Amino acid sequence: MIPAFDGHDILPETRAFLAQSHRLLIDGAWVDGSDVLTTRDPATGLPLCEVAIGGADEIDRAVAAARRAFDGPWSRLTAAERTALLHRFARAIEANGGLLAELDILDNGMPRFIAELTVANAVEMVDYYAGAILRIEGTTTAPPRHVSAEGEALTYTLREPVGVAGLIVPWNVPFSTFLLKAAPALAAGCTIVVKPSEETPLSALLMGQLLLDSGFPPGVVNIVNGYGAAAGARLAEHPDVDKISFTGSTATGRRIVQAATGNLKKVSLELGGKSAVVVLADADLDRAIPGVAMATFFLQGQNCMAGTRIFAADAIHDRLVEGLAAFARGLTLGHGLDPATTQGPIISDAQAAKVMGYIDAGRAAGASLVTGGVRLDRPGNFIPPTIFTDATPDMSIVREEIFGPVMTVQRLTTDDLDAIARLANDSPFGLSGSVWTTSLSAAHKLATRIRSGHVSINTHGAVGTNIPFGGYGQSGWGREFGREGIDAYLETKAVTARL
Ligand code: NAD
Repeated sequence: MIPAFDGHDILPETRAFLAQSHRLLIDGAWVDGSDVLTTRDPATGLPLCEVAIGGADEIDRAVAAARRAFDGPWSRLTAAERTALLHRFARAIEANGGLLAELDILDNGMPRFIAELTVANAVEMVDYYAGAILRIEGTTTAPPRHVSAEGEALTYTLREPVGVAGLIVPWNVPFSTFLLKAAPALAAGCTIVVKPSEETPLSALLMGQLLLDSGFPPGVVNIVNGYGAAAGARLAEHPDVDKISFTGSTATGRRIVQAATGNLKKVSLELGGKSAVVVLADADLDRAIPGVAMATFFLQGQNCMAGTRIFAADAIHDRLVEGLAAFARGLTLGHGLDPATTQGPIISDAQAAKVMGYIDAGRAAGASLVTGGVRLDRPGNFIPPTIFTDATPDMSIVREEIFGPVMTVQRLTTDDLDAIARLANDSPFGLSGSVWTTSLSAAHKLATRIRSGHVSINTHGAVGTNIPFGGYGQSGWGREFGREGIDAYLETKAVTARL
């Protein structure tokens, strides 16, 4: 049975998708799993459909298929053929954009405007990496002295695919993160086994169908839904997987690294964050207030880039807090399908309970609650935007990633940029961050001093297909997006020939 979505209609193709059986994609065929899970709409708590899941056995079969494809037909395709396949896949995403957006709205709870933005970004991303295939380049360099004089020997480098890549995906932007890994991996010439999040298994299955329809040979793309402790853990430790690209929490990232030690597979990690947002006294508050508010509340705060530690100059602190609170109260909580919704539900009951635990801890530690702070008494997992002032650096609401709509504002008692940067850098994480000021000099000085993979000036989270993204410190290893995104799936081989 397909439930009503708070009275909102869905596309006929979404209805048809939910009604069909959802299996695992292994070796070019949809196959049964070892169990099923029920995926739910976080805005209503109602079940959406059942999805087959796999464990270690299914991962083993998927890895074997990926290895056969890597050793076989896939590696014999020309770069131009791989490019054409990926462009065809981009067109298929475009043609199915409405369905894709609705699957993530229903499974994840994101508001429609975010889902539509991620579809547009996804198309751009796949086309970008299709184009990048013909720009995979090695270099030539001087041959070693002991081999031969220059002119009688030749040294060059080749870029080769790393092999079978395991891609482990979180729930917060499901198909977008799937593509952020799958597109560069396939562009590089790898074969892939994808383990989507058990919270959001649906859009990955549509991706699998579109990849098959686009003509990717059997075994090149395998998708095994399942739980982290079973399917995810087996993929991370598998002796025949050459590379793991993981996005998720820092705690799971540590487990991935430990699991990868058996065959010392390559590992990329995109982990948690607790990004700083610095608002100086000369900031344009008309722009800063909505920008800073959405730095935290975009995607219900379930965003690795969320700027949740706000540092406000003394002179503007009270006006900023007043403006942020008014903006927060103006956000419309509701079902993501409703075009008026600007903030959706938290992904699950358990995650909502975790967020409420942090809010209670903040109150108990003496922070002042300005707005929000209570879970709504209605179906679904709704927590309104929550703002604390008088927070101190030792509080858990300041130190730990909450992954919910919770902001702390700390008053700056100095205008010394080095001292401000030290406060911003007082975190084990370093993923994103922003600086709000009309001083060009202060903006760029702070951008260089903040220890983070990504800093925005007078905006927040300004990521893009061509812009490298990743973490300092415990926010991860390596970069995604841009040229570095494809480098993560390539090895470099040096060849020297005596002529
Ligand atoms: P999570 O770590 O709980 O799960 C992520 C994925 O790992 C899921 O597919 C899960 O099934 C799998 N997994 C869980 N345990 C595993 C194990 N032992 N071995 C292998 N796989 C396992 O994270 P989440 O709750 O899904 O996502 C939220 C987290 O992701 C937040 O911390 C957020 O900051 C982070 N995130 C980071 C980025 C980034 O680019 N840095 C982007 C999005 C999300």
